[in-house]
Amino acid sequence: MLTTKDTKSEVAELTVLGQMGLTNHEQIVFCNDNETGLKAIIAIHNTVLGPALGGTRMWPYKTEAEALNDVLRLSRGMTYKASVAGLNLGGGKAVIIGDARQHKTEALMRRFGKFVDNLGGKYITAEDVGMGAKDMEYIRMETKHVTGIPQSLGGSGDPSPVTAYGVYMGMKAAAKERWGSDSLGGKKVAVQGVGNVGSNLVAFLVKEEAKVFVTDIFEDRLTEIKKNHPAVEIVSGETILDLDVDIYAPCALGATVNNESLQRLKCSIICGAANNQLANEKEHGEQVMKKGILYAPDFVVNAGGLINVNSEVVGYGRDHSMSLAKNIYDTTLHIFALSKSENIPTYLAANRLAEQRIAGVAKIRQTR
Ligand code: NAD
Repeated sequence: MLTTKDTKSEVAELTVLGQMGLTNHEQIVFCNDNETGLKAIIAIHNTVLGPALGGTRMWPYKTEAEALNDVLRLSRGMTYKASVAGLNLGGGKAVIIGDARQHKTEALMRRFGKFVDNLGGKYITAEDVGMGAKDMEYIRMETKHVTGIPQSLGGSGDPSPVTAYGVYMGMKAAAKERWGSDSLGGKKVAVQGVGNVGSNLVAFLVKEEAKVFVTDIFEDRLTEIKKNHPAVEIVSGETILDLDVDIYAPCALGATVNNESLQRLKCSIICGAANNQLANEKEHGEQVMKKGILYAPDFVVNAGGLINVNSEVVGYGRDHSMSLAKNIYDTTLHIFALSKSENIPTYLAANRLAEQRIAGVAKIRQTR
């Protein structure tokens, strides 16, 4: 039902409808407004489980093809994330083409909000790279179909602590699978990127007396983490992949599990917050398995943020989000069991789980 991702170059050669067919997208909305300079794409991947929820990313894409590729890839990922997390949400995402530091205006954000509103709730937006709380407030002025707004405005606030807790739960499940105990005490963990999620994850790990190594491209982030957790060891960005550690936790950018890093990584487990960690899902998902590394699929363990914004949609609070994020432990173990019984990479086991739930619910929808 949901076709798997192909290589970037193969996809780019297709027409827009060809690409939608390949990834099985329901709808794409191209948004243009000459007055404000808004150029955006909203991609709705699948709404079988519920309205398509996913953030808006503002990025200076070099080409429209690059923006389209990103929004298609990201929206599909949201379908899978929501499905495995057991949420009644579909997958969607939006991109605004432009430099967030130069091209952002109130009018542009509000015009974008109107485009979101026109979809009548089929797509619900949230914050992503290049967007901030103020932008969400502007979008909110034009549509109610926006989540992740500050708690002071009645929203669910910063999702990062919930995301970090879910990653921590996934990591404990991976430890249980690999070593028979879910204790992370004494385990060596390399955390790449100590931003909003990474820093919260470090706090959980330090509390459990793991030996934590951290790196970041910003000195102030490292100073802060050392101040809060003197036991952590700061390492350079160049050496983080070469460390003799038990767990590698990518919490910065995607695609860090690739041909080069797989030559260097010495860990037994990969489990982190970053989206799209496998540079090529199929190729690197299989390579990780062959190398005997246990990969906790990113969209499974980092679903805490989505769980948190969903609480805004359905009206639950932070405590409820945290208890749902705790379930990531069991879900991750279930995926490992499926991977073992079917002898397939863990990413594929997670994809199958997501697809099965969507197919099951689609059947119910057809029943009167
Ligand atoms: P963030 O921007 O707050 O933190 C990312 C950190 O990584 C920053 O401190 C940045 O300086 C650092 N970084 C960037 N490039 C680096 C590199 N090459 N080496 C080392 N450090 C580097 O973002 P975040 O909200 O903490 O999100 C982290 C990752 O988790 C992202 O990939 C994001 O898409 C994903 N994610 C976040 C959430 C959430 O709730 N915030 C939810 C799901 C997934």
